[in-house]
Amino acid sequence: MNADMELRVAAVPEAWRAAGVLFATIFLATLFGIYSRPVGFLASIWPANAIMLGLMLRNPVMAQAPGWMAGFAGFMIGDLLTGAGLEKALILNIANIISISTAYAILTRLPAEISELRQPVSMLWIVLASLAGGFASGLLGGIAGIKYWGGDALSGIVYWTAGEFVTYIAFLPVILSAPPLVQIRKYWYRLDLIDRSDLVPAMMVVLTFIASLLIGGPGAVAFPVLALLWCGLTWSVFATAVLTLVFGVMALGVIASGMVPYLDGFPDKAALSSFRLGASAIALVPITLAIVMRSRNELTERLRYLASHDALTGVTNRAAFHEQASRRLAAADLSTAMLMIDLDHFKSVNDTWGHAAGDEVLRETARRVVRMLRPADLFARVGGEEFVVMINGVTLEQAQSVAERLLTVVSEQPVRVGDGSILIAVTTSIGLAVARPDGATSPDALMQQADHALYQAKHGGRNRVVTVGVSGK
Ligand code: GH3
Ligand code: MG
Ligand code: MG
Repeated sequence: MNADMELRVAAVPEAWRAAGVLFATIFLATLFGIYSRPVGFLASIWPANAIMLGLMLRNPVMAQAPGWMAGFAGFMIGDLLTGAGLEKALILNIANIISISTAYAILTRLPAEISELRQPVSMLWIVLASLAGGFASGLLGGIAGIKYWGGDALSGIVYWTAGEFVTYIAFLPVILSAPPLVQIRKYWYRLDLIDRSDLVPAMMVVLTFIASLLIGGPGAVAFPVLALLWCGLTWSVFATAVLTLVFGVMALGVIASGMVPYLDGFPDKAALSSFRLGASAIALVPITLAIVMRSRNELTERLRYLASHDALTGVTNRAAFHEQASRRLAAADLSTAMLMIDLDHFKSVNDTWGHAAGDEVLRETARRVVRMLRPADLFARVGGEEFVVMINGVTLEQAQSVAERLLTVVSEQPVRVGDGSILIAVTTSIGLAVARPDGATSPDALMQQADHALYQAKHGGRNRVVTVGVSGK
């Protein structure tokens, strides 16, 4: 058996397992859709299409042939078990598959970031794909619908398209932004992860929703927009999508119950459609905002990282070190050690082996130092081949032994560079200064003392540690 065959043999069970999950999910979602029809066919909440599309977009293994067949079977069995005729079930479910596959074909042709809801334009593409899927299936479902629930072909198509659009917009963002299951299992009980201030926008949604019930009228559906925007600003995409879905379902439930006369003449098919489309349009706004906020936060995070780290070695840079060291020194209630580390004769490494080899030596040296230090120690690259280490809470003797060990870890193995055939022996010199916890020493002053010691180490023959006297009271 060659590797290719092995791969294929291994892939089949996975696709079938995925198909099994899809079948069960679609079957349950179909039952949910059928039993959630508060006002006949009109106001059903039909999440099955969005669920199948969302699962396939997230797990491509589900979108192989077994998955499509399993999804279709889930729809059919759900319908037939609840008493639908075979002909009607076939037509409606073929329409469902047309809807899902059209939207799927569009979204999978776009960069993955679109359906991962990581692009500010993500929701616009989801709108387009939902409309296209809804319309493609509406041509069949809407026309066939004439036979089952009357009306003319055009209004059938429009109604079908709108219904598909509304449910995709409601459910897809939740499915596409949901954290992976493993992550949910790890955190679901961590209620303390929720910031209490996060609850304020949610309370505002509830309050404005109540206000829209009390005041009523055609504009009432838009009352919670500001509160939803607030959620989009402060909540994750997933939390915003869930809240928006809850808002939509609650609003639909209230409308469908006929409790509140939002619109005269309800229940009426056109008014209900209009209401649902309006609620979807509202839902797009907070979700888009949450996506924009996420990409903005991720960008800020990346810039912050770049601004505080050295590009070559990945360790802290001089500016960030200075900031962290100042804070640590001011708060220190034990002695603080500062070690200036400078590679010996590094210029000759560059001259002999080239600049790229020199870079590799710098990276490997940084790795060796990081491996030896403890997480609480500060370590930074402060110049071309100069590094600094700051350790809180050590005696002079302890700091000296750390410095000696640093000399050893850097020099005991030559650094392998290039294809591994070049071995470069590296040594360093270290200047060490220790400050007592008097709160008055600045990182600059301490670094200057350590630098002075380093100068002596170089003059004393390199590959050694020199310590200057303890400063402070
Ligand atoms: P000493 O033992 O006295 O410290 O000698 P040295 O050669 O290490 O010191 P010198 O300051 O003369 O040279 C430092 C060299 O480090 C010169 C410079 O080209 C090199 N260097 C500085 N930054 C980088 C870098 O990012 N990559 C590489 N490859 N070399 C660098
Ligand atoms: Mg040097
Ligand atoms: Mg130097």
